Amino acid sequence: MKKLLVIDDEASTRDLLKLSLESDGYTVFTAEDGAKGLEIFARENPPVVLTDIKMPGMDGIEVLRRVKEQNPDSEVIVITGHGEMNLAIQALQLEASDFINKPISDESLAVALRRAEEKIWLRNKLREYTEDLERLIKETSKELLQRHELEHNLIKTSMDGIIANDRKGNIIIFNKGAERIYGYTQEEAISQIHVTQLYPEGQARQIKKMIYGNEYGGPGRLINYSVEVLTQTGELIPILLSATIIEDKGEEVATVGHFKDMREIKRLEEELVISERMVAVGQTTAGIAHGVKNILHGMKLGAFMIDTGFEKEKPESLRKGWNLVKKNINRVSKMTKEMLSLASTAPPAFEVCSLNDIVEEVCELMTGETRRRGISLVLELDPSLPPATVDPDGIHTCLLNLVTNAIEAFPEGTSGGQVTVSSRDQGEAGVQLEVRDTGEGMSEELRERVLENLFTTKGARGTGLGLAITQKIVHEHGGTIQVESEPKKGSCFTIILPE
Ligand code: ADP
Ligand code: MG
Repeated sequence: MKKLLVIDDEASTRDLLKLSLESDGYTVFTAEDGAKGLEIFARENPPVVLTDIKMPGMDGIEVLRRVKEQNPDSEVIVITGHGEMNLAIQALQLEASDFINKPISDESLAVALRRAEEKIWLRNKLREYTEDLERLIKETSKELLQRHELEHNLIKTSMDGIIANDRKGNIIIFNKGAERIYGYTQEEAISQIHVTQLYPEGQARQIKKMIYGNEYGGPGRLINYSVEVLTQTGELIPILLSATIIEDKGEEVATVGHFKDMREIKRLEEELVISERMVAVGQTTAGIAHGVKNILHGMKLGAFMIDTGFEKEKPESLRKGWNLVKKNINRVSKMTKEMLSLASTAPPAFEVCSLNDIVEEVCELMTGETRRRGISLVLELDPSLPPATVDPDGIHTCLLNLVTNAIEAFPEGTSGGQVTVSSRDQGEAGVQLEVRDTGEGMSEELRERVLENLFTTKGARGTGLGLAITQKIVHEHGGTIQVESEPKKGSCFTIILPE
């Protein structure tokens, strides 16, 4: 009787799985949380574990990690809910054998179980095979491959491709996993293929260098290096490669590579990116619709006032209405411009210039507004600032956005606030530009969201694009932006641009 362990916090899922799996002839153990599950696992050592991924307390990822720690040969199938693709991928990277989605269909369950059992079967076969091989090699070339190396690189990871070549680059081991990846049979590989043919041109030599070098896991070793390999049909396949040089009496005799096929994980990652992008598109569209609706509302009001002005021959109403329409035309045009600059993929136009000059220009533009509002605008410029290589228009936009926000941090009608703009040479860290205000500040919740696209607390007056654009430009310069704030005390935005 085949043993199987089901871990899920939902009683209904547990019961359902138990019923259907028992009718398929399994002995089913169930647990309602990770800790109990691991207890049963330690006691019964079932070859296959099905675990929910999201559970209170210990989650499925942790269960997977610990099960694999206790017995790397056990197969773990994770059960994922809608929108948990991220976790599913993480699980696959941790060597989960498969994942199935909730609600669980009989079909997907059967497929996952069959695959898990196939893996177990293959692993056993491969173990026999490698043990044979080991014996053979030992007989022919005196412990060519040391036992622990074999255990480590061949047996434990037998599902993946394992290829060994001698010093001349002739293939001497080519396992089933390698056959699956490359399409060559073992006989073909061993008799006809040179190790350089397994990679795109020049790549094999590159890898060899890395194995000898120190950077990727120490000399004589390469650990988890992402590379593309070239199959029999000329296809490029993403692989996670680990390799070891095998020595006999201090002399190099062979190189063993362990090839993990990353296609499935890559595909899932791409799907995830697409679905995340779809969510972002949805959010952006909703944000834009909201902004446009606000503006339209203002225009409608303006049109209504103009209509009234005509009907009742009231020039005052005409003037007010027309002003409202003009104001909203400006808003649409500002919003469009900002959206275009946010969507632009043109690289920044770098040139050598003085950051202090840019700060002064921006502040000069804003003096009218600060005077009108009774805000004092203070400049603290570092005279020793070295010339910088930046896109001056881009940095101008950033500072203008930050100073505008700083001014808007004071409610209309109040006076006495202060906005300070400073520049500072931070040596190796780069140049720091800071815009600080003594305005109304932000709650922590707000502060965490301000850099988001289309996030605004200013209703129709804001577009919510200013900081998103600022961040985009700063990142294009390889810089960072930071926000500090305290409600009622004020905020401070800091940009650091690398030297
Ligand atoms: P907008 O100014 O059009 O609303 P921004 O992206 O420039 O869009 O800013 C987003 C939000 O961040 C603002 O609506 C405001 O709530 C908050 N914010 C930005 N700067 C400050 C500041 N200096 N003080 C307080 N709140 C700020
Ligand atoms: Mg703004």
